[in-house]
Amino acid sequence: MINFQYSRASDVADAILLLTAHPGAKLIAGGTNLIDLMKENVEEPSRLIDITRLPLRKIEETPDGGLRIGALVPNSDLAYDPLIEQRYPLLASAILAGASAQLRNMASVGGNLMQRTRCAYFYDTSTPCNKRAPGSGCSAIEGLNRNHAILGTSSSCIATNPSDMSVALAALGALVHIAGPSGERAMALTEFHRLPDDTPHVDTNLEADEIITAIELPPRGFARNYSFLKIRDRLSYAFALVSVAAALELDGNAIREARVALGGVAHKPWRSLEAETALRGQAATTEHFSRAADLLLQGARAQAHNGFKIELARRAIVRTLMQAANATPQSQAHKKIA
Ligand code: SF4
Repeated sequence: MINFQYSRASDVADAILLLTAHPGAKLIAGGTNLIDLMKENVEEPSRLIDITRLPLRKIEETPDGGLRIGALVPNSDLAYDPLIEQRYPLLASAILAGASAQLRNMASVGGNLMQRTRCAYFYDTSTPCNKRAPGSGCSAIEGLNRNHAILGTSSSCIATNPSDMSVALAALGALVHIAGPSGERAMALTEFHRLPDDTPHVDTNLEADEIITAIELPPRGFARNYSFLKIRDRLSYAFALVSVAAALELDGNAIREARVALGGVAHKPWRSLEAETALRGQAATTEHFSRAADLLLQGARAQAHNGFKIELARRAIVRTLMQAANATPQSQAHKKIA
């Protein structure tokens, strides 16, 4: 682990000033991913800017009936907040599917969005990795790639995004609020993470001198017909092979509105507007859910060891949509697949 400088930001403006003054600095909140990466010499920030005391820990109602979640709200607090449990249970369910209770207590909402891939080669500094060392190559493409992406890959990187929370946020249509030297801006969660293309070392569209201040949820929460299904090698404390966030609005058995996002299959949460459009106005049946799965998985491409993910994802999409339609969401407390 390298030597680094330490500063504590007094407010958001101070954090931005420190980021601007110290290229190579990193913000630190819960530290549940960054400290691991520093111990492995994958991340080598010149300075850590401690933002844990910034006033970004509130969950507030917005005038239009949505919610604004401060970037420093711990994942556990968010999952168990009564407003989230009642109005956005899909988000609570996705958070509780992730990590462990101890990690969820430490990890912040903003940090969850910023966590980096768990590709084993990314963590192993003795191997080539374009995400860690641009231009060095991708060890996973010819190596062990069972956990890797099937959608949106490039010849430079086939890593997946590890966040469960982001998958639910993508389905819910969340916005990410950002502050930087030129002011504030907001972007759709679905635009926040990037595909690898030929710059896989750039995970997100956040600039180096910007800070996430909040996540905004729109009023529509899909609290009745939703489910989050996470398939993994063990039923706790493991990253997704495939996850599905599904949310429906039904009129009888007819689908008025549909949202489906996938995790564990791409460099970002994967949504298909074509699949969601195809579901609108249809009956909530296995046949229509299978068609949506086909559309979501259009262009899926297997590597040597992860071909099973395509069929796994197809079945998981249909199952999760059926759980949502039946209002029988996957339980995250009972560690078995419903
Ligand atoms: Fe690195 Fe991406 Fe290849 Fe993994 S998949 S070795 S993160 S370039």
